[in-house]
Amino acid sequence: CSFEDLGLGSWISETLRAVEIKKPTQTQIACVPPVLKGTDVIGCAKTGSGKTAAFALPILQKLIQDPYGVFSLVLSPTRELAIQIGEQFSVFGQSINLKVAVIVGGLDMVDQAILLGKRPHVVIATPGRLADHIRSNSDVVNFKKIKFLVLDEADRLLTDTFAPDMSVILESLPKERQTLLFTATITSAVYQYYSRKKEAGNEPFV
Ligand code: AMP
Repeated sequence: CSFEDLGLGSWISETLRAVEIKKPTQTQIACVPPVLKGTDVIGCAKTGSGKTAAFALPILQKLIQDPYGVFSLVLSPTRELAIQIGEQFSVFGQSINLKVAVIVGGLDMVDQAILLGKRPHVVIATPGRLADHIRSNSDVVNFKKIKFLVLDEADRLLTDTFAPDMSVILESLPKERQTLLFTATITSAVYQYYSRKKEAGNEPFV
């Protein structure tokens, strides 16, 4: 099975070949087609399974089809993970001039606000710092056009620790969007999320 078989453009497989990625992983084989189809996805995948590419590649494919309409937000529980995800997006998106902003704690708020003002295609953030930006100036974070929300390590994001920040962020996003949730374990919060979606008639692909 090739990346093209999953519905991705040949520009993606060419980019991947340059970084020695030749064949999709199981996680990518399972996730890429439903993401391209427009379905919400819950991916049970650990770090090392190629899960970042499993959501990044179909998002980039959608972006190339609609460069002014596809904006994405990726949330991660830790700075280190957010930075790694940002690096992978930059590698995969280098041939399409992808604009990426990594918004994590410990860096200058004003510099980050300027970065957000440049309308990056993909914002990768930790909940605390992103919620601080929204609270201080919701205008700077123009999320009206967000098409994709990715929750990476959702089992950790959907805990009480992050709940106040997560609700500030989720309230600033459009209801009409595709949500991709990646988790190592199905915690009760992840299961509740799935059940709510299913009841609302929007059952995620697991
Ligand atoms: P992740 O699971 O997203 O943390 O990815 C782990 C590592 O696997 C990253 O360095 C990726 O660049 C790499 N990777 C992603 N997809 C593939 C693939 N299909 N084949 C080989 N390596 C990959």
